[in-house]
Amino acid sequence: MDRYEKYRQHFLKNIRKRLEEWENVDEIAHQDVYRLLHSIAGTAAMIGMNDIGNYARKLMEQWGENEEKKWKASDVKERLAPLFQLCYEQQIGEVAQNEQGTKQGDEPTVLLIDDDPSFLMYVKEHLEQNGWYVVAIADPVKAVASFYDVRPDCVVIDIHMQTKTGFEVLAFLKEKLKQQFVPMVMVSIDDRKETRMKSYEMGADDFIPKPFDIDELIVRIHRQLERKQLIDELLLLDELTHVYNRKYLKQAYEQLKSDWHRTHEPFCLAVLDIDHFKRVNDQYGHLIGDVVLKQFAQFLKTNVRTHDIVIRFGGEEFIVLLPATEASEAFLVFERLREQFERMTFQSGETTFSCTFSTGLVEVNDPSKPIGHWIELADSALYKAKNTGRNCVVLAKQQEASYRRTVKVAIVDDDAIVRAIVTDVVQKMFAKEKVALDLRAFKDGEQFMTSEWHHGKESCLVILDGVMPKMDGLEVLQQLRSQKDSSRYKVIMLTARKSEHDIARALELGADDYMTKPFKLLELEARIRHMLKRMN
Ligand code: GH3
Ligand code: MG
Ligand code: MG
Repeated sequence: MDRYEKYRQHFLKNIRKRLEEWENVDEIAHQDVYRLLHSIAGTAAMIGMNDIGNYARKLMEQWGENEEKKWKASDVKERLAPLFQLCYEQQIGEVAQNEQGTKQGDEPTVLLIDDDPSFLMYVKEHLEQNGWYVVAIADPVKAVASFYDVRPDCVVIDIHMQTKTGFEVLAFLKEKLKQQFVPMVMVSIDDRKETRMKSYEMGADDFIPKPFDIDELIVRIHRQLERKQLIDELLLLDELTHVYNRKYLKQAYEQLKSDWHRTHEPFCLAVLDIDHFKRVNDQYGHLIGDVVLKQFAQFLKTNVRTHDIVIRFGGEEFIVLLPATEASEAFLVFERLREQFERMTFQSGETTFSCTFSTGLVEVNDPSKPIGHWIELADSALYKAKNTGRNCVVLAKQQEASYRRTVKVAIVDDDAIVRAIVTDVVQKMFAKEKVALDLRAFKDGEQFMTSEWHHGKESCLVILDGVMPKMDGLEVLQQLRSQKDSSRYKVIMLTARKSEHDIARALELGADDYMTKPFKLLELEARIRHMLKRMN
């Protein structure tokens, strides 16, 4: 620790306090803001925080002293955010310097399942240093449920999990992973021949006895990821439903475009999404869910014309391309499909049930536009279909691509600087996305838990500080996880760097991810991005 450290702590504490006070008032006089800048500019340089001092001075010059202006707390925060970021990053200092790589959201995803949290923490940290995104899950039942959201490129499973259902989980993943060519790496303390044999018989691609050398684990996972990528590149068919997968989309669009140049006939693109599919999974299990998906795909293929193209876009969403078809015709096609499908029945044991789907439809009449444009339009039509009761077809209006959905983001942290920074990061991120943001910051767990803002049906990302007055983050997490609609909440836990106990507890309680404070902003951004993908 260098000799200024103590003063820096004090300095930051004062800024925090000031922000804290401002959050509770309606208006802040310009002079007060100016005075804060002044004191920052004066002190910062003295305690080795030159960048911050310079930045504050620049703001002072820009804003001048004697304006009559009044500030709103949120505006102050927004305008001063870069300054806080500098303070915060300075505070990270050397600690974070050896944290590697910036995460952009497209790196390979490794799903790590083990009921021993300290193992999870250790392995996660090391794997992430390779630039992989790692989802660590301590509860095997939850691991199964989150499989579709995580969409892993490799799964690492501890064979000897203590829970009763450990073997069921294994069986489920085995079926699932074989089908989707997701490599499965088993680790186990039990290195007997029969355990190894059984693992391979169950479809494991590799078996690594515990304890292992972390470098070796990394190399072996790396090999699996390479293979997975190769397979992904080769396959154009979806493994589960045997219709095309989304990689075929571009190619299909190119084909239709060249047809259009010849014939000038418009074609249609539709996005189809099964209604309340989550309920099917919840009520009858994922395997029945898979059956519904397969049959839906089959149903589509057999009931459209032979030159129409059916693509599984992801999850329970499909895209259908109808060459040489006008919107009005296509509308009738999907109306007919809709009526047919709602009459179909599925079987789960003794129970018979049926499903419906919604369709967003757009006529492609200008192929110079990229395919993303048309998908967006069809998507907002689909969103309307979902909002008007589902089980219907909506035709997109050509111009208006509206926001597909709103995402709620809660920042729960008692540190005013962290609240300001995270707010700023999230707002900037969303400015680039086609998603509307509904963001709130809370000072402590109690304030969050008693707020009605996050009640309802929408999913909510909670960036949750571990240590807070009144109700701490772990308790909030525990309460959220005991709620019936717990799966609506995705939680990124912020914990103090060395508090392994808290991290372990957070994982046990079902945190979806965690970050140790102080964190890098890029890393925060990457993790939020990953989480949003999973909330889709
Ligand atoms: P909505 O009517 O608004 O579309 O509701 P929904 O429940 O259908 O939509 P949501 O997108 O919330 O849920 C889709 C679910 O589909 C979540 C995911 O777990 C599940 N899922 C995605 N891929 C698969 C899969 O391959 N197999 C199974 N069984 N489930 C899947
Ligand atoms: Mg759906
Ligand atoms: Mg969906």
